Amino acid sequence: MTGKRILIFFMQMNSDKLNKSVAYLKGIGPLKADLLQKEFSIFTAYDLLFHFPFRYVDKSVITHIKDLGTSDAVQVKGRIISKKIVKGQRKARLTATLKDGSGFIELVWFKGVNYIEKYLDLNAEYLAYGKVSNFKGKITMAHPELEKITSGKVIKTSFEPVYHNTEKLNRLGFDNKARCKILRLLIKTLNEEDLPETLPEYILNQLKLIPKLEAIKNIHFPNSFDLLEKAKNRIKFEEIFFFQLRMIFNKHKRRLKFNGHEFAQVGKYFNRFYKEKLPFELTGAQKRVIKEIRADLGSKTQMNRLLQGDVGSGKTMVGLLSMLIALDNGFQSVLMAPTEILAQQHFQSIVESVKGLGIRVAFLSGSVKGKTRKELLHHLELGNIHILIGTHAVLEDPVKFHNLGLSIIDEQHRFGVMQRSKLWLKAKDNKPPHILVMTATPIPRTLAMTVYGDLDVSVIDELPPGRKEIKTIHKTERNRPQVIAFFHDEIKKGRQIYIVYPLIDESEKLDLANLQEGYERLLNYFPPPEFKISVVHGRMKPQDKEMEMQRFVKGITQIMVATTVIEVGVNVPNASVMAIENTERFGLSQLHQLRGRVGRGAEQSYCILMSGYKLSREAKTRINTMVSTNDGFKIAEADLKLRGPGDIEGTRQSGVKEFNLFNVVLDQTLLQTGRHIVENILDNDPLLEHEKNKILKGRLSILNSGKRDWGRIS
Ligand code: ADP
Ligand code: MG
Repeated sequence: MTGKRILIFFMQMNSDKLNKSVAYLKGIGPLKADLLQKEFSIFTAYDLLFHFPFRYVDKSVITHIKDLGTSDAVQVKGRIISKKIVKGQRKARLTATLKDGSGFIELVWFKGVNYIEKYLDLNAEYLAYGKVSNFKGKITMAHPELEKITSGKVIKTSFEPVYHNTEKLNRLGFDNKARCKILRLLIKTLNEEDLPETLPEYILNQLKLIPKLEAIKNIHFPNSFDLLEKAKNRIKFEEIFFFQLRMIFNKHKRRLKFNGHEFAQVGKYFNRFYKEKLPFELTGAQKRVIKEIRADLGSKTQMNRLLQGDVGSGKTMVGLLSMLIALDNGFQSVLMAPTEILAQQHFQSIVESVKGLGIRVAFLSGSVKGKTRKELLHHLELGNIHILIGTHAVLEDPVKFHNLGLSIIDEQHRFGVMQRSKLWLKAKDNKPPHILVMTATPIPRTLAMTVYGDLDVSVIDELPPGRKEIKTIHKTERNRPQVIAFFHDEIKKGRQIYIVYPLIDESEKLDLANLQEGYERLLNYFPPPEFKISVVHGRMKPQDKEMEMQRFVKGITQIMVATTVIEVGVNVPNASVMAIENTERFGLSQLHQLRGRVGRGAEQSYCILMSGYKLSREAKTRINTMVSTNDGFKIAEADLKLRGPGDIEGTRQSGVKEFNLFNVVLDQTLLQTGRHIVENILDNDPLLEHEKNKILKGRLSILNSGKRDWGRIS
């Protein structure tokens, strides 16, 4: 056994009680255990313990009846002064009047009528807990939880946990009450050996965190509001702390393990290009980012850098300059784009801009076949090709480089982590290429810190000068004639127009019908042969799609009717209008991406958001955000708040969704604290060898081993 495995074994031995199947817990048994597994992936007692309540019933206060609103559930105390069973047409119902010093409330039951009626003693005192509603002017509480107050009994006030549950489990008798009972029993028996502390004492002291065992006890059955908050805080911190520790620790380890190719010099290719070919002055942000990249490339460690920059901020040029540095040091580069059309565009523009410098650039995609492909692969392996541009086809096994020094991935979110890791396999001498990931989907800083904590981040936060701000306008069906007239004007000026419909996929016939209907309607307003319209959607064959796109790119067609297939990267500077249909169905970052297709030339550009009249509050927020700002980072922040981190592109595979309590939007302070502490620890003890950090190292190897039980939390 390796040391690591012994450790895991040991940690699990520690918690025999918790690693048993829930079937062994009193009150569960095989049937419920089976369902718990199916519905919630709760296998062991440990899992059950780490399935936290999603809210708490506050029975710590008793409300006066006169103060009742009709909102959340409340608790009242009073005497039953009347009760009766009312026979309805089909079913009977039970009503009772509860009176306290301030007023009356009607309690009502539609089920268990006879049984409950017997339990209600006139003039006896009860605690009733439930949701209050106003039924025909009467304040009522349907199916309240009732507790009779016998004389001398002390009323215990408390927070009661409420857990997510399913109807099936309920029916089996595993309802909230039953679960609480089981958990209370389990928790009573727990001691520190069962649930060992995971954070070193100095961190607990520094942040005044409560011990793990106490936190877990109080997250289920808080003794007070204050303790509940403390428990939450402790657990959240642990989650984000270990997430970050793991990411940064592994990054350091990778750095030690893999050396980088050192690009010591900036030479003739870069300098000649810079002096003779650069078509514009770089923006300050571009210059800064290139400096950051140069520093990485010149050090002996391997670069893993994320380049964020809004659409149109000029990331391609940064990529090209980086590739020239690679070339100056005798290395090949590859630039990968998510779609064929985008790869083609990169290829053409880069070939154009390095003309006459003796740089050999090649293009590879699935459509490059036969002899051409064979020759290309041959020359690539010999090192005769300096820069390869293409789609993910460049990742395939037969594609071998002579000495790949730099890989650039454009529009990162379309590339999975798996694909990214394939690049590493093209490493020689244990030296993987430097990696630069470029994305136009800005990610809020806090989220980037979490998700991309293992990448260094550069940001281009400045657009090239002279860009006119895109004007964004919200319109509804009523304004359509006006919108069509506007299209006419723009086309007359020689501009081109995008009209985008929501995504078409297998299941949504409706979308296709929508798009086709829209297209046919357009034909009336823009009849051929004077006008030409391209149509592109996801159900078309790739070649057909490609051809239609090209017609628009070349300016043969004036209007492009499309689904979101055009979302990423295409550059048609002559297009000045982006009209989006059914805007309410698009997410914010998608809308922002789409808008970025225009405003690429010198002309004033417009984004027209078409929607129905009736909009949900969220759709309104999205549209208002789009109308009020062009700033991708502001939009990303708004998006994060609306949707939560799990839905933000690029975060899906990152594990951010798996936090139990930690919330990337709400817990930013904890995030910063966690990051700070992690950096501090690793600065002083990079391999976690100090005695006081032993506990962290143990925890990390468990997390890194991906063991189910212990890997689940944090
Ligand atoms: P993105 O960051 O969205 O990939 P691109 O690299 O496609 O943006 O650049 C958008 C456009 O801006 C291109 O036409 C490019 O030539 C131009 N551009 C890039 N940098 C500058 C600059 N510093 N000054 C003027 N134009 C620039
Ligand atoms: Mg780009």
